[in-house]
Amino acid sequence: MIYVHIPFCRSFCTYCGFYSEVAGSCPQTRYEEYIRTVCEEAAGRRDEIARTRDVNTLYIGGGTPSVLPLSCLQTLLEALPYGPWEEFTLEANPEDICEKGMPYLQGLRKLGVTRVSLGFQSFDDGILRWMNRRHTAARARDAFALLREAGFDNISIDLIFGLSNLDHACWEDTVRQALALRPEHISAYQLSIEEGSALEAQVAGGKYREASESHCRAQYDVLCHLLGEAGYHHYEVSNFALPGFEARHNAAYWRRVPYVGLGAAAHSFDGRCRRWNTSQIADYHAEYEVLSEDNARVETIMLGLRTDVGIEASLVDAGPLLAEGALVRCGDRVRIPEDHFFVSDDIIRQLI
Ligand code: SF4
Repeated sequence: MIYVHIPFCRSFCTYCGFYSEVAGSCPQTRYEEYIRTVCEEAAGRRDEIARTRDVNTLYIGGGTPSVLPLSCLQTLLEALPYGPWEEFTLEANPEDICEKGMPYLQGLRKLGVTRVSLGFQSFDDGILRWMNRRHTAARARDAFALLREAGFDNISIDLIFGLSNLDHACWEDTVRQALALRPEHISAYQLSIEEGSALEAQVAGGKYREASESHCRAQYDVLCHLLGEAGYHHYEVSNFALPGFEARHNAAYWRRVPYVGLGAAAHSFDGRCRRWNTSQIADYHAEYEVLSEDNARVETIMLGLRTDVGIEASLVDAGPLLAEGALVRCGDRVRIPEDHFFVSDDIIRQLI
């Protein structure tokens, strides 16, 4: 199970706190240099990779992996000769898909990409401009159609709700437009104020006021209702899939399956120890934390209770929360029911 981080974007989104850089005037050279570094890291960590192959998935995320030319992806994959992959996801910006067109998409298919995760975020052009996204709603729809035409039958789209400037009608319209495309997977995240983001500065300068909890709750409820009605399986707080299209890679993270993360700012886990690469693109290095038994238990609870399979009941004192309906019991496991997913963080806090 391998994650590769591509820390490049062509512009920065208002809300984003992820580590990435704009490649500047000579992007091809920077991309190639970076990919060379990642390939060297992959070669040096071959034994570790071998130990994570019970779940043989590859996820290339970012940043914006779709800024990379096919040649860079090809070089990267030659350094990762572990396919065929059970699932190979590439995150993409809709504008890159439209600009690069069919030859690029056919190239991705040849490289073995099985799943594309598109950052749509909204179907409202005003909201997309506020987010400083590079694409419009129409271009996002075009990108989706192109992917289908190229034969991709596993497409995920990302949406964001809980903006104070996103009214309920506009959000419902976004969810309905997303559903009209019938993607296999939808991830919907509540806006948060990330450290280092442009939005954080807006909040500090009084230019943006966070949405109230009831505003966010109402939008989350609409999301759950419409997606449930459309047959999507709500298998994690922020993730919905048509049956059989649950993300295997992400679902393995939530089960705390070991994985190797390659590249600047990428995280890894070997079952006992968490490792993270620092953020400098040219010369990142690794830092480590060995988890105590208690840390491991807390992680298991935090990750497991965000999913609809929950955790072993013996890990927590579930009594009071079972009585009030914030947890339900299924055999020897407990889980948070969907109507309490929105407050899952509060529930988890009470348990740990
Ligand atoms: S949301 Fe994605 S595209 Fe936007 S700045 Fe962050 S990583 Fe880049």
